[in-house]
Amino acid sequence: MIQFAVEKANRVLVIAHIDPDGDAIGSLTAVGQAMQQLGKRIMLVCDDNVPQRFHYLPLAGDVRRAPNPDANYDLVVAVDCADEARMGWAYACLPEPKPTLANIDHHITNTRFGAFNVVDPAASSTAEILCRFLDEIGVTMTRGIADSLLTGIVTDTIGFRTTNVTAATLRAAAALVDCGADIADISLRALHRRPLATAQVWGLGLGRMTFQDGLLWTSIGRNEMRRLGLDGNPSSSGLVNFLADVEDVAIGVVLSEMPSESVRVSMRAVPPYNVAEVAMQMGGGGHVLAAGFTLDGPLEQAEATVVAACLDAIRRQRPA
Ligand code: 5GP
Ligand code: MN
Repeated sequence: MIQFAVEKANRVLVIAHIDPDGDAIGSLTAVGQAMQQLGKRIMLVCDDNVPQRFHYLPLAGDVRRAPNPDANYDLVVAVDCADEARMGWAYACLPEPKPTLANIDHHITNTRFGAFNVVDPAASSTAEILCRFLDEIGVTMTRGIADSLLTGIVTDTIGFRTTNVTAATLRAAAALVDCGADIADISLRALHRRPLATAQVWGLGLGRMTFQDGLLWTSIGRNEMRRLGLDGNPSSSGLVNFLADVEDVAIGVVLSEMPSESVRVSMRAVPPYNVAEVAMQMGGGGHVLAAGFTLDGPLEQAEATVVAACLDAIRRQRPA
């Protein structure tokens, strides 16, 4: 039982996925606060920096880029990670034998890589799963934990708009609001406010978007990213959501070239289309309606590969 593993652990390492989003950081900081409340020594780690828009969350300033390799953690908790690779170096760098691993996640592509797996693909977000789970292990909901969890729910559901939002999601969110979480403030900071550079990237992307047979896609080159000071942090999720909201779009895609020349691919589908299938085919993962993966560059070649795969998916998945 995961409850016993938590109970007997003294040092807990919590890991969020690379290129973290609001659900990753909200879940990471919620579990961190919960473990502190239970008297554990905690270490919060993510391979990539916490995006500026989540800096208001408790413990956001305590997230490190790497764990202490000599720390002898008793328990590792992975949040919002669909597979082991999503934890990145944060887990890979731990010496063998690695500590007991708990996997708390909601991705349909989750590989059940933990010794304990709290995985519910029907949940809107990892944060929604944690609302139940933290209660079950005896954590008292605080304003800080509520802020973190509501940030996860609001961002992963794009403000309660996704098809996996249920009455249970809304009840969980209502309970967090009852604990003091400010839903308007969180929605503004975590979802809508964005740096000027992000709006400028969107401008570049929108200026060259292409539509073909239900696919609307665009790409951002690494020199453009560098010029706008966005190295390694594409902040493209808002843009790809926007593309998928355009009329007659079945699949929206944004390709972002990283400083290393690898290409991050973000995809969104409109029901009944399925991008998890395309992502799996390409070695990535995610959800039916939101998924991603990374390809080798150059950008033009990656773009050709992705466009062909998506057009093929649209043809196969199009309702008769
Ligand atoms: P985004 O497009 O916002 O980066 O990601 C959409 C969804 O797909 C998120 O739930 C994210 O965790 C998942 N995802 C994105 N890239 C990858 C990847 O390379 N591997 C896996 N397993 N999931 C991914
Ligand atoms: Mn998530």
